Amino acid sequence: MILTRSKNLADKYDDLILIESEHLMDQLKQVTKSVKTKSPFSRCPVCNTETEAVEKETIENEIPSYVFETHKDFKRCPECGRVFWKGTHYKEIQKVINEINS
Ligand SMILES: [Zn+2]
Repeated sequence: MILTRSKNLADKYDDLILIESEHLMDQLKQVTKSVKTKSPFSRCPVCNTETEAVEKETIENEIPSYVFETHKDFKRCPECGRVFWKGTHYKEIQKVINEINS
């Protein structure tokens, strides 16, 4: 899906979203209303592959020990191998999502 603020580009193609506002929060609201998606945390932010739940014990040597001790749910990207958990970055993103949906 192409997202653009270019009216010229929007006039040439059908399968895109013409972003109307210059303000980020309004842009995010427009996109989330236009596109049905799974959880925003279902894909790898690096390579866009769907992540998969992984057993905590199998990734102990791949994450900081503090994270291992303080979190229980982890996901792995099957493409690039990165491991994800609901840390502070997750909470900041969730705040933005709540604001968009309010
Ligand atoms: Zn990945």
